[in-house]
Amino acid sequence: MEDCIFCKIINKEIPSNFVYENEDVIAINDLNPKAETHVLVIPKKHVASLNELNDETEALKIFKGIKETVKKLGLTDYRTVINTGKNAGQTVFHLHVHILAGKLSIENL
Ligand code: AMP
Ligand code: ZN
Repeated sequence: MEDCIFCKIINKEIPSNFVYENEDVIAINDLNPKAETHVLVIPKKHVASLNELNDETEALKIFKGIKETVKKLGLTDYRTVINTGKNAGQTVFHLHVHILAGKLSIENL
């Protein structure tokens, strides 16, 4: 989707280091980390938020991507967060799952 920062990262129009990638998701370090480890798992298919996610297969692919990302990072203890809607703190309207581990600073997550 045009004018979507995460689509631009996925399409490599904006450079970024992928912490993990498979055919369905990428994982990148958050630009403004709120924990020692703060990674975003982002489906390659543009879906604006959890409210627009209606495909169960796609949902499973995202969960698989989370599990593969934490495995690659060597994490067993971590927090996952999905902000949905601007009143709940969503700022990027391309669905993404925050993975947080280590010392947290989550006042403004
Ligand atoms: P949310 O508030 O749940 O929509 O989370 C959006 C997250 O994306 C925030 O934690 C931002 O720091 C992060 N973010 C925004 N732009 C980038 C970027 N170019 N690369 C990595 N993380 C980003
Ligand atoms: Zn997008």
